[in-house]
Amino acid sequence: MMKKEKAVVVFSGGQDSTTCLFWAMERFEEVEAVTFDYNQRHSLEIECAQKIAKELGITHHILDMSLLNQLAPNALTRSDIAVEDGEDGELPSTFVPGRNLLFLSFAGVLASQIGAKHIVTGVCETDFSGYPDCRDVFIKSLNVTLNLSMDQSFVIDTPLMWLNKEETWELADQLGAFDFVREKTLTCYNGIISDGCGECPACKLRKKGLDDYVSRRQVLK
Ligand code: ZN
Repeated sequence: MMKKEKAVVVFSGGQDSTTCLFWAMERFEEVEAVTFDYNQRHSLEIECAQKIAKELGITHHILDMSLLNQLAPNALTRSDIAVEDGEDGELPSTFVPGRNLLFLSFAGVLASQIGAKHIVTGVCETDFSGYPDCRDVFIKSLNVTLNLSMDQSFVIDTPLMWLNKEETWELADQLGAFDFVREKTLTCYNGIISDGCGECPACKLRKKGLDDYVSRRQVLK
C-alpha cells in the first residue's frame, strides 16, 4: 500500500541516516535524499553522502545551510572547538541549536516541491546525548506545524526513534544492508570512514552497538 508513495530522507552519509535510506527504499516507491551543507568539520561527510546516494541510484539534493554555521558555530562546524560530551545535564559541544527544526523544515519545503508525502529522519531519543530536537515530542509537534504551514499531510517517519545503537545495527541487517552500512558510512567526528578513529564519542557509541549486536547475532546462530 505504502509502496506507491514518495519519500525524502534527511541524509548525512552516517550510519543512522543510511539505515533510514534503506528502510525507505524498502517501503516507498520513490525515494530521494537531502543533505545539508553547513560547513561540517569534514567536507568528507558530503562526499560520503554523495557517493552512497550515487551507488544506490538515489536522487540527491544538497542544500546550502552555511547560515547555520554563521548563527551557531559549534564543534561540528569549527575545528577550534573540541568535541565533548555534556556533563551535569549540559548539552554536548556538538549541539547546534535549532538544527533539526531548520533541517526538517527545509526538508518539508523540498518534499512539497517534489511531491513527497513522507519525510524520513534518523533522529533517536534512545541512548543519545539528549539533543532536545531529537525527541519524539518535538518531531510530532513539527509534523503538525509543517502540515499547517503548507496545508499538506506530510508524515515524518522516525524509524530509529526508540532503537538503541545495537538495534539500529540489527535493523540494517534485517534490511540486508549490514555490510554496506558498516563499510561505507561516516559517523566519526574525526572524519574517518567505516569503523572510524575509535576514540571520539560517535565512534565509541557506534562500536559498542556493533559489538553488542555482533555478539548477540553469534549467540542466535
Ligand atoms: Zn571517531
